[in-house]
Amino acid sequence: MKPFAYTRAADSQAALQAIAQENAKFLAGGTNLVDLMKENVEQPSRLVDINRLELARIVERDGALRLGALAKNSDTANHPLVRERYPLVTQAILAGASAQLRNAATNGGNLMQRTRCYYFYDVSMPCNKREPGSGCGALEGFSRIHAIFGTSPQCIATHPSDMCVALAALDAVVQVEGPEGARSIPFAEFHRLPGDTPQIDTNLKRDELITSIDLPAASSAVSASSYYLKVRDRQSYAFALVSVAAGFDLRDGVIQQARLALGGVAHKPWRAARAEQVLNGQHADEALFRRAAEAEMQGAVATEHNRFKIELGRRAIVPALTVGASGRSA
Ligand SMILES: Cc1cc2nc3c(=O)[nH]c(=O)nc-3n(C[C@H](O)[C@H](O)[C@H](O)COP(=O)(O)OP(=O)(O)OC[C@H]3O[C@@H](n4cnc5c(N)ncnc54)[C@H](O)[C@@H]3O)c2cc1C
Ligand code: SF4
Repeated sequence: MKPFAYTRAADSQAALQAIAQENAKFLAGGTNLVDLMKENVEQPSRLVDINRLELARIVERDGALRLGALAKNSDTANHPLVRERYPLVTQAILAGASAQLRNAATNGGNLMQRTRCYYFYDVSMPCNKREPGSGCGALEGFSRIHAIFGTSPQCIATHPSDMCVALAALDAVVQVEGPEGARSIPFAEFHRLPGDTPQIDTNLKRDELITSIDLPAASSAVSASSYYLKVRDRQSYAFALVSVAAGFDLRDGVIQQARLALGGVAHKPWRAARAEQVLNGQHADEALFRRAAEAEMQGAVATEHNRFKIELGRRAIVPALTVGASGRSA
């Protein structure tokens, strides 16, 4: 690991001042950043420790639920208001990592965690995300865990978070603070597709701090009938091959509003807009769910190694919608 300077920020203002220095990075739980530093993938010259900032609270605000950026993943998943109003978030967080990691990992860090592409972690391999212009090891190599939606000739990596898939389905809003003040970023605009700049994961500026994530009041209606399904190689301690966050606002069996997002399939949590179009306004039944899954997966483009994800996606979407619509998981 390369030597680095360390600053412990007392408040947001101090954190924003310290991050302005070249190549500084915020340190939250450290469960991703420190691993990347040990592998020499990330080489910040300064770590700005934000753990003393008062950003760990989970509070109601104008009917929305505000999740502090420094609230631990485990505290968020187990908070009574999250469990009651947004069980999809609880399920998604608890499907991720391990209890020990969730006790250390924060909500802001979860949004900002980097891809698990093997070639990104291996500094002896080409990777346009780690070193722009060097090539993509996965395109020439083994791409079993890689993306099937929204890829580019530069990068086919996926975003690894479970929590973010639920946040995408629930239209969360990310609150940030920077040198020019505060701003809100709708969740759909927070993470980016790779395009020609795969080194840039999100639309958060380098000198901006995530302060909280808002779960809108309107989204609690779709979270009442919801389900998070994660398919992975092992039952614990493994990232999603495909995951599905499904939520419904159902009245008399008719779908007023469906929300569907997929994980493990794209560079960002993938909102399944084609499937939602098929579902909205229809009577909820298995035949409809099959049509919705088919419509979404028709847009997928696979490599030789991850072709199985297209069938896996179909097979995961249908049961996630079925359990979600039944309200059994809430
Ligand atoms: C073995 C293992 C298995 C895992 N399995 C899963 C899994 O199955 N599902 C899953 O979803 N996740 C999984 N994770 C990832 C884990 O959830 C993330 O590492 C964690 O959420 C990151 O949070 P952190 O607070 O530790 O972030 P850090 O490691 O401290 O930071 C990560 C990044 O976020 C930035 N950052 C942190 N906070 C802020 C902020 N407030 N504003 C701006 N930038 C910020 C940092 O600068 C850094 O770039 C796993 C991790 C490990 C090590
Ligand atoms: S898929 Fe993206 S992260 Fe993986 S090697 Fe290619 S450029 Fe790097």
